[in-house]
Amino acid sequence: MAPSGYRGRFAPSPTGDLHFGSLLAAFGSWLLARHAGGRWLVRVEDLDPPREVAGAARRQLDALRAFGLESDEEIVWQSRRSTLYEAALVKLLQDGRAFYCHCSRTDLATVAGVHRACVASRLRPDPAVRLRVDDGSVVAFDDAIAGRIEQDVAREVGDFVLRRADGFWAYQLAVVVDDADQGITDVVRGADLLDSTPRQILLQRALGLPTPRYVHLPLVLGPDGRKLSKSDAAQPVDAAEPVATLRAAWARLRQAPDALADARDVAHLLARAVASFDPTRIPRHDAGPHEM
Ligand SMILES: [Zn+2]
Repeated sequence: MAPSGYRGRFAPSPTGDLHFGSLLAAFGSWLLARHAGGRWLVRVEDLDPPREVAGAARRQLDALRAFGLESDEEIVWQSRRSTLYEAALVKLLQDGRAFYCHCSRTDLATVAGVHRACVASRLRPDPAVRLRVDDGSVVAFDDAIAGRIEQDVAREVGDFVLRRADGFWAYQLAVVVDDADQGITDVVRGADLLDSTPRQILLQRALGLPTPRYVHLPLVLGPDGRKLSKSDAAQPVDAAEPVATLRAAWARLRQAPDALADARDVAHLLARAVASFDPTRIPRHDAGPHEM
């Protein structure tokens, strides 16, 4: 296939073993990248040590390798990229787009948790930094699967955190900086991140960065169209049975049922999958704004 400018990625958080929902996002993003003749990168989003599980990142990467899903470039670890995030934060502070915030959770409870102006009852030694979201900041984008998504970020989310009071980087800032730094053209991930996307687009605009195309895969639908329970989706995948597990993921993506029937091993299965993958078969979302 001809080289293309397509650059996709899979970005797991090491908060546990690779589960079926994550594998679906990994396999789906890999298939879309290969289908486009593009590259596929893996980025470990290890920015939240309190939530991380020791050894989980390595086990996730080992599992991906067992499924034949390997990064085309060196794996990026967010925990080693503070300099990049700091530079973006400084720029936003200097441009007046970000501000120090002393509000506590208790303070914000008085305004239904939506930060529109500081309501701090006292100064904290380590304030958070938030992005100022102007009134009327309505962000709309067209998701290749979820369709038209629109969110009034000011009203529904408010000024959001870029660096937490505990000093850790917020996911929204890191993901926007990394997607731009890695030249990601197509973000393919689970629908659980759909409602983060308008915030990320606002941040891209504030930083003068391009907005990639978005595909949010409907992780919660089973092959019969019924919702998969949270506990099913959270089951660790069995990397010892990669062919069977990849076939199950293939079925969840509603791809041609017989295409992988004679796959002998992982490499053979992946070659067959790329040859018969059809993005238009991926199930659409039936979610309305109530699921955002
Ligand atoms: Zn505040």
